Amino acid sequence: IKLDPVYLQNNKSIVIGSIVNIEDISERVRAENMRKDFVANVSHELKTPLTSISGFAETLKLNENIDKETRNRFLTIIDGEANRLRRLIEDILTLSFIENDKKEEKEAINLYSVYRRVEDMLMISAKTKNIALACEADESISLQANADYVKQIILNLVDNAIKYTPENGAVNVKIFTEKENAVIKVSDTGMGIPKEDQSRIFERFYRVDKARSREIGGTGLGLAITKHIVMNLGGTISVESELEKGSTFTVKIPIKRD
Ligand code: ADP
Repeated sequence: IKLDPVYLQNNKSIVIGSIVNIEDISERVRAENMRKDFVANVSHELKTPLTSISGFAETLKLNENIDKETRNRFLTIIDGEANRLRRLIEDILTLSFIENDKKEEKEAINLYSVYRRVEDMLMISAKTKNIALACEADESISLQANADYVKQIILNLVDNAIKYTPENGAVNVKIFTEKENAVIKVSDTGMGIPKEDQSRIFERFYRVDKARSREIGGTGLGLAITKHIVMNLGGTISVESELEKGSTFTVKIPIKRD
């Protein structure tokens, strides 16, 4: 609580009253703390690949006679870490863009066509793990939304489903309507998410297993971005999951008919 008294004085400068403005600033303090945490996390996440890149580059520079195999291994690590840095920066920029995009451009978009635009790309990553990716859709559903943002929702959820599902598994996408909502359901037969982590995975940089997420190229921002987009559309996102059985993410977006 912030108190800002203003004293009322008469013409002899004697205080004859006061006005106190009582303002609850707990929300502002919470937002400011979140911002500080985010900046600290971003710095840490960016420093980790940078340290690795400069460490390996330095080693290569100082050891001219390093054998070819080791040299190639170090260069592959540098390349991988540079890619990681690029993904992190892209995700941070996307998140910041979404947060500041107050009047995002909306148009009538067909949900299934948006899925079709990313399907080929997703099929390729599913194939590398021999995962069966299938989609069952009501092809007539249209929404007032920004196509790029909706594409991002689908990409993030299906990409995660593929990433966290072992070889030979299955990923299913369902697109349908339920009451006044368009629903996108993405289910996988993957590793699942422990109960205690399920409510936290939508937080920025929260990962159930940091090392594993890093290894498979995760930034820890995908679900935070997804949730933000869904909320901007007035929708909800939820998860049901069982360890070693799989997870289902459900996004509901109101279809506004106006
Ligand atoms: P990341 O880049 O690490 O994948 P996300 O924000 O997309 O970050 O997801 C946060 C965390 O939620 C992941 O690190 C992972 O632990 C967990 N997660 C997300 N999707 C799934 C899924 N389909 N199956 C199992 N775990 C998942």
